[in-house]
Amino acid sequence: MSISENIKQFKEKLPEQVTLVAVSKTKPVEDLQEAYDAGQRIFGENKIQEMAAKWEQLPKDIEWHMIGHVQTNKVKYMAPFVSLIHAVDSIKLLKEINKQAKKHDRVINCLIQLKIAKEDSKFGLPPQQLSALIDEKKALGLNNVQIVGLMGMATFTDDEQQLQREFNILKEKFDAHQQSESWNVLSMGMSGDYPIAIAAGSTMVRVGSAIFGARNYH
Ligand SMILES: *Cc1c(COP(=O)(O)O)cnc(C)c1O
Repeated sequence: MSISENIKQFKEKLPEQVTLVAVSKTKPVEDLQEAYDAGQRIFGENKIQEMAAKWEQLPKDIEWHMIGHVQTNKVKYMAPFVSLIHAVDSIKLLKEINKQAKKHDRVINCLIQLKIAKEDSKFGLPPQQLSALIDEKKALGLNNVQIVGLMGMATFTDDEQQLQREFNILKEKFDAHQQSESWNVLSMGMSGDYPIAIAAGSTMVRVGSAIFGARNYH
């Protein structure tokens, strides 16, 4: 199926409360334009320079989400335009985002990435350190960065029960802080596991290959 047909199908099948982030990493701007023409306005990228280059070339009403691991020295390249940073996992990164946002007189929205997968390779804050990070951010002020929810990546597995367990960890942490922190985003679910993530309470899915086709990393 074409990209535009895939976008239309996702818009029909996703529940109303679930936002679709079209993950366009490695894909050419023509593919993003096709998704845009089908009505998609939120795109996710995992490399800051690639996202900035696409931002320059594409319509300015697109919301750009940084979904990948962020190096502090590159925050400045996305500070003028990024609308949500999904994978924040340290106070050091929050401080840098705050500093760069201030230069542009913006408040940048962020999600805290929790480590829920069993694999060692995945980034993210251990769930038991979440409260301390929230408190530290408050103590420091950091008024130009706003935490609006949580993000996580489950283990790459077909084991549905394991996926459910991992998403439930994230959902529990989300529920524990949602009211006091006024959170509204729970970003979980990708092409292979979004139905399970939605059943577990996701409000935002990050879908790449099911929209744009398999990625080619050469
Ligand atoms: C690549 C990526 C996705 C999308 O993956 P697909 O399996 O292609 O849907 C989602 N989230 C993150 C953090 C990613 O890096």
